[in-house]
Amino acid sequence: MLKIADEFKLTINGKNVSTENTIPVLNPATEEVIAYMPNASEQNLNDAVKAACTAFSGWAATKIDERDELLTKLAESIHKNRDELATLLTLEMGKPNIAALREIMGAIHWLKEVSKQRLKREVIEETEDHFVERYYTPLGVVGAIVPWNFPVNIAIMKIAPSLLAGNTVILKPSPYTPLTTLKIGELASAILPKGVLNVVSGNDELGRWITEHPDVNKVSFTGSTPTGKKVMQSAASNLKRVTLELGGNDAAIILPDADPKGIAKRLFWAAFQNTGQVCVATKRMYVHEDIYDEFLAELVNYAKTVKVGDGTDPSTEIGPIQNKMQYEKVINLIEDTKRIGARIVQGGQVEDKPGYFIPVTIVDNPPEDSRVVVEEAFGPILPVLKYRDYEDVIARVNKSNCGLGGSVWGKDIEFAQTIAERLETGTVWINEVTVLSPHYPFGGHKESGLGIENSIDGLYEYTNSKTIMINKKKMF
Ligand code: NAD
Repeated sequence: MLKIADEFKLTINGKNVSTENTIPVLNPATEEVIAYMPNASEQNLNDAVKAACTAFSGWAATKIDERDELLTKLAESIHKNRDELATLLTLEMGKPNIAALREIMGAIHWLKEVSKQRLKREVIEETEDHFVERYYTPLGVVGAIVPWNFPVNIAIMKIAPSLLAGNTVILKPSPYTPLTTLKIGELASAILPKGVLNVVSGNDELGRWITEHPDVNKVSFTGSTPTGKKVMQSAASNLKRVTLELGGNDAAIILPDADPKGIAKRLFWAAFQNTGQVCVATKRMYVHEDIYDEFLAELVNYAKTVKVGDGTDPSTEIGPIQNKMQYEKVINLIEDTKRIGARIVQGGQVEDKPGYFIPVTIVDNPPEDSRVVVEEAFGPILPVLKYRDYEDVIARVNKSNCGLGGSVWGKDIEFAQTIAERLETGTVWINEVTVLSPHYPFGGHKESGLGIENSIDGLYEYTNSKTIMINKKKMF
């Protein structure tokens, strides 16, 4: 059984390793230290990369079915420890325990489903004289760098396809939420060959060392757009492959034939699930003027019923913000919203008490160029905006530099689809939102990212394409 009192260790070359220095990890609901994470030195990282390089050729030479079997065993081991892992995840991340368990179960599902995927060998040409075949080879060592909002899900989204494709991995969790990931590293070290999956925790500079390391062949990064740009710059040193899953400012467009009562609850959770700390959370809600007042009233009425609190309390539906930096950023956005005189119709008052708690905050039709509309809040504050004209709303939505996701809501699905087709984002949902799957391609347009995660395309991102041509004419 896993206990919070355990010492947390790195996983390097199949061994659990302590470090000279540690960093305190806080519970965002109480601001109390719950544990100390190992702070990996550059030497620790070099040891991990060396182990991953050494393990690579053996791991890449195994049959994909064998790798599938080991990854499925890892999924089973996580399943066996799911309750303890979920408890740990709530303590370090702040999300309600039920949501933490959902995240762990989601990660297990991802591991199992991705493991079933197979890389195709494709015959491109076959004639009497000529044979051309394309296949896919692993890249080598993958650096997987993860944020704090879904620490376990996002880690598994990266390590499952990397390992299945035959790569070895250096996994770095966020310094805010390293504990559950370190425990999963320990579980993996009992299943996978040594050096195949190494887990190192430390500060942001550890991330930079990974992206600059000459023996790391790819970086799969999820995080903010500014950090993503730095990752891309560092990766240029040895032309590392990069997959970047970055920030979003997703809009929901609510058409005049939508039923405000029917959709308000679903859209509330689209915005406020995980305390709004979701890359594809709805961060701007554009509502047609015919139903604007009714929709806003429904949304606010529902918001009043939702309980914000400590994630360990079973009645909590929304936890605290995960860390102080993000908490202060959201408070600053609330203050700016008040300063410009926009009307806050729900929340907006932050209590002076321990924990990074911010009430659900809803803003009534702020100016289109206000910070609360333009910036990715990544917290529980939502601007609801009024529109009349479809061309106008499409232009307003597409004006953002982000292009991650978006949604359209209305009874006339064909019409909703014509709008969906014009949104400049990687995913558009119609009458649903934030649905992701190991089988659906996911990635951002514009500054929301580069490359694809999930689906078979996501697996190919961890490979090189290789073409072999055979001249069959008699030459000798
Ligand atoms: P962040 O960019 O601050 O950090 C992400 C990770 O990068 C952390 O592990 C951090 O230690 C590391 N890091 C920091 N500086 C680095 C550097 N110079 N080089 C390499 N690594 C470095 O992001 P965050 O605050 O942890 O996460 C929130 C952001 O993540 C939001 O913008 C959100 O939209 C985005 N996000 C995107 C997706 C997606 O799939 N598109 C999913 C979840 C979160």
